[in-house]
Amino acid sequence: MKKHGTKDAEEVIPTPDPEPMVEPEPKPEPKISRRIPAASLVVEYKDRGIVLNPNLIESQNVSEEGIEKLKELHLERLMLMDEMDHEKKSTRLHVMAEEYEHLEFRLQKAWGFPESRKYHRWWEVPKCTCPNMDNKDNYPCDYRIIAGNCPVHSIGKPKSKFRLFLQKIYSKFVK
Ligand SMILES: [Zn+2]
Repeated sequence: MKKHGTKDAEEVIPTPDPEPMVEPEPKPEPKISRRIPAASLVVEYKDRGIVLNPNLIESQNVSEEGIEKLKELHLERLMLMDEMDHEKKSTRLHVMAEEYEHLEFRLQKAWGFPESRKYHRWWEVPKCTCPNMDNKDNYPCDYRIIAGNCPVHSIGKPKSKFRLFLQKIYSKFVK
């Protein structure tokens, strides 16, 4: 018995495991955020960029394909914002704001959240002059506070019957 014990003690010293990888890690849930390097969660376009939230990826159980989809959508959004930076025509900006909203819906879907307009951070688009603090305070909210002079969200004073008609239609989407 004593001999056996000595042998064990001897063995411990001269056998340093040459391959530390051999040791299996029996962890039940593989955490995506640990597998995926942070750098691969970055989406950049020109002077804008975002980093996908690794905790959210984990809690929403987003697959690797899902991550790629999210990055694609974020890139589209950054490119759209860059386009808005350079756009002067209000009518074009209105269309772009709609595109932005559409991307927000697609992002919600890709994250596995219900598609809801009240979670959109619509006032964060370039050129928007809507009261950002008020909207932020109300967030998440379906009601939007739009500045009359916002080139992106306000359609301005109705000048014609057509404008009035347009405003009527538009108010269904933007309250
Ligand atoms: Zn605005």
